[in-house]
Amino acid sequence: MSLERALRCRECGREYPLAPTHICEYCFGPLEVVYDAAAQRRRVTREGVAAGPPNLWRYIDLLPVSPERLVDLGAGFTPLVKASNLGRELGLPELYIKNDSVNPTFSFKDRVVSVAVTKAIEFGFDTVACASTGNLAASLAAFAARAGLKCYIFIPADLEKAKVVGTGVYGPNLIAVDGNYDQVNRLSTEVADRHGWGFVNINLRPFYAEGSKTLAYETAEQLGWRAPDHIVVPIAGGSVISKIHKGFAELTALGLIPGRETRVSGAQARGCAPVVNAFKKGADVIEPVKPNTIAKSLAIGNPADGYFALDAIRNSGGHAEYVTDEEIVEGIELLARTEGIFTETAGGVTVGVLKKLALSGRISPDELTVAYITGNGLKTIEAVESRGRRIPRVEANLAAFEAFLGEPGEDAAG
Ligand SMILES: *Cc1c(COP(=O)(O)O)cnc(C)c1O
Ligand SMILES: [Zn+2]
Repeated sequence: MSLERALRCRECGREYPLAPTHICEYCFGPLEVVYDAAAQRRRVTREGVAAGPPNLWRYIDLLPVSPERLVDLGAGFTPLVKASNLGRELGLPELYIKNDSVNPTFSFKDRVVSVAVTKAIEFGFDTVACASTGNLAASLAAFAARAGLKCYIFIPADLEKAKVVGTGVYGPNLIAVDGNYDQVNRLSTEVADRHGWGFVNINLRPFYAEGSKTLAYETAEQLGWRAPDHIVVPIAGGSVISKIHKGFAELTALGLIPGRETRVSGAQARGCAPVVNAFKKGADVIEPVKPNTIAKSLAIGNPADGYFALDAIRNSGGHAEYVTDEEIVEGIELLARTEGIFTETAGGVTVGVLKKLALSGRISPDELTVAYITGNGLKTIEAVESRGRRIPRVEANLAAFEAFLGEPGEDAAG
């Protein structure tokens, strides 16, 4: 039996029955899943979690789905690696990377889609859909294929090639829209109203969003059941950052980890930084922007959960920072060069901001810090392919290679 109990408005607190809906009819606030916390306290133990499967379903009692018909591609339980080399460069001896680029479709979106598509089946949908900046598209297409559901995916027409090809291969109805993500999202909301499909990030959004909490659960478990002191998380719609924050609070409330305030810092690209702008100005209102950045997976100019992201950052004593496109590419290369992890542009944003916060002293060396790497570098080859790495070419014989080695001036490391 699953332990979700109702949907509750995050603004006015009104409760609604569990259904594919996401907005409070009374005040238009966003809805969130609430659980039977007493039953969770009885059921969820460290030992029980440790005995679970090596994927996000080890936390099923903290997710709003029942175990009978899970749509499973093995998402989650990704590596948490001690980043000693990067930590040395940044002066952060207690730095870790949560490497979510190694999920089944190579981004953290497999977590939210695991939950949303499972819920779509529980609700009886035969068609799922989404508006996507790229990673959600590939993930939903894969999970819909696995579940045998019809699938409609709406993307901005200018996405990276690997994201388009890596979505189309699963055979969804893929629709490229002439416009940016915010326009794609507006269209999708109208389609959702008209066709009654299960849009994972619209009418199923309260369930979808819960999947992100597993990033916090796993981090705490992998640290030996404690929360980090400081985390750095990229922001697009603002959902994952606020849900990671919530995930640590839930574990504390359940008595699974000692209470500790984790400082939450948010990362955006300078060309699309509505949350960071509000933070820097000390404003409560998030002013939409027109995105212009190579970090396309984060290019949401009017973030649905921007306010909650800002709230998590402010209330936890964290920071919000942006980086330029050039710094994004440097961030990608820095992580690859120091830790052997190749991330996409969103990860370049995270590493770039991590670096800025570390070098300006806003992350202190004694803080156990976790940076969330949410997507894979092979998805945004365009960002790094023009960096002029010369690849030497030799004839297929040893003499030619020895001649190459002996030639000073050639960049053998290249
Ligand atoms: C979607 C996405 C994010 C941010 O997600 P939100 O919950 O919308 O803020 C971060 N990184 C990558 C790679 C993504 O695809
Ligand atoms: Zn309300």
